[in-house]
Amino acid sequence: MRGVCPMQRIKIIAGPCAVEDEEQTLTIAETLKKLGVKYFRGGIFKPRSSPYRWSGVGMDGIPLLYKVKDMGFKMVVEAMNPAQMELLYPVVDIFQIGSRNQQDSELLKVFGRQDKPVLLKRGMATTIEELVMAADFIISEGNENVFLCERGIRTFEPYTRNTFDINCIPAVKELCDHPIIADPSHGTGKVNLVIPVGMAAIAAGADGVMIEVHNNPAKAKTDGDQSLNLAEFELAMEKFEAVASAVGRALDVL
Ligand code: PEP
Ligand code: MN
Repeated sequence: MRGVCPMQRIKIIAGPCAVEDEEQTLTIAETLKKLGVKYFRGGIFKPRSSPYRWSGVGMDGIPLLYKVKDMGFKMVVEAMNPAQMELLYPVVDIFQIGSRNQQDSELLKVFGRQDKPVLLKRGMATTIEELVMAADFIISEGNENVFLCERGIRTFEPYTRNTFDINCIPAVKELCDHPIIADPSHGTGKVNLVIPVGMAAIAAGADGVMIEVHNNPAKAKTDGDQSLNLAEFELAMEKFEAVASAVGRALDVL
């Protein structure tokens, strides 16, 4: 949309939960590229709730991340410890800190001592004020470039994987100057709910949306139930653009 200040543009971060293999990763990346998406997400080290589940391709995924980066994407990748942070540093543009690590203040400080932006996901049982304070641990070490991410919290509601806390979006705007990114994929855990909740987050003032996308969700090694297929993601982009434009904003796409 013309006349929308670049700061006001809504970031779209998309990609698989986990990078699995070359065909999966590049098929997804090519579709995202066609749709003008600038930020690619995809984990190679996956934090899991169960120690018995697949936990990512690990270091073998690094060359694949470079292939995607070479297509022109900015890379959003999770690191769970300082060693992973150092290993990923050259290929990553925004470090993701996952929900399971959001309360680890010493780890937050380590990310504060490097210069790349950090996407800090809300812990499953973290209050909004605690999330904002967690960002202060990063900032206290010198890195002020922190994006907060609402990804749903645990409630008594079992119908969805998590309960996306829409309140968090405007509340963060009231409490601090950090951009707030909405993750309706983890926030709902259900593919049919991802687009409407993403639209609601944009209407509520989110600075970006992070969406899990897979070329074959039924075969995804992680989070297939909440991953949009390529056609669904294209529809998501149309719906997000429509809501953004209704609230005087636009998507940050090429
Ligand atoms: C993810 O983004 O794939 C992820 C593991 O998210 P969270 O840390 O929010 O569970
Ligand atoms: Mn995931």
